[in-house]
Amino acid sequence: MKFAVQSRRDDQSNELMELAKSYLTEFGLVLDEEAPDIVLSIGGDGTLLHAFHRYSNRLDKTAFVGIHTGHLGFYADWKPSELEKLVLSIAKKEFNVVEYPLLEVQVHRKHSESSTFLALNEVTIKSPDVTLVMDVELNGEHFERFRGDGLCISTPSGSTAYNKALGGAIIHPTLQAFQITEMASINNRVFRTVGASLVLPAHHNCALKPVNDQQFNMTVDHISMTETDVKSIMFNVANERVRFARFRPFPFWERVHDSFVANE
Ligand code: NAP
Ligand code: MN
Repeated sequence: MKFAVQSRRDDQSNELMELAKSYLTEFGLVLDEEAPDIVLSIGGDGTLLHAFHRYSNRLDKTAFVGIHTGHLGFYADWKPSELEKLVLSIAKKEFNVVEYPLLEVQVHRKHSESSTFLALNEVTIKSPDVTLVMDVELNGEHFERFRGDGLCISTPSGSTAYNKALGGAIIHPTLQAFQITEMASINNRVFRTVGASLVLPAHHNCALKPVNDQQFNMTVDHISMTETDVKSIMFNVANERVRFARFRPFPFWERVHDSFVANE
């Protein structure tokens, strides 16, 4: 089995990374940063986002596991003190793989080629200084003309991140779905949006169409880009899925509880 390690690059994460590398090598695993079967992410959820995008071209062949050197994460749910246990389980292949749905976004441009991205958490569409104006289509039918700060389109596992801060629902990652959440929509006698988060199933799609060639900013997880020449942005549940190595049960609602509710 081949492995790679991604570190947040602080001292503690780097130290743990070196330890993980030597343990795993001792157990006969081979360090392969190009084509790993398993990727250990050491840091936070943000570190796992980096690891995901680094290996997003081989998701069907790679399983991820996250160790948190800061607070408990949703993707980074192993404690540093559990490293030895983790290494043993990996060496003995005593783990299950759970799969979570991803969001696919296709940017169709007017004068240049279109591009496709995968998001583990979400895609956001915002306008840097002026009101964002976008037509929203669901399954090819006009739904609303959105005016406001922006829109957040999230995966189920990303629903606990930016989406939650915007008042969106937390979606269990066994559901093949994606969620559209508003950022400060303008609503008055003239302008109207639905004013609630929408949760769409796997066979539905959403298209956003900039009005008046508006320039906007798009983020895909931690990656940010500026777009100027866009005809439409299409969203749907991706065919690809992300795979997490699970060594012990840690149910999603328990992680939600421990991250947001528990105060002990
Ligand atoms: P960051 O600014 O360091 O991350 C913001 C926070 O989101 C961190 O505490 C991060 O956890 C946490 N997070 C990431 N994925 C999560 C998930 N699936 N569930 C719950 N919390 C999660 O930036 P980053 O580390 O590069 O992460 C990029 C992400 O930041 C974006 O995907 C977006 O979801 C999030 N974000 C949130 C807001 C907001 O809540 N208002 C605004 C912008 C972006 P760690 O500390 O463990 O890394
Ligand atoms: Mn972070």
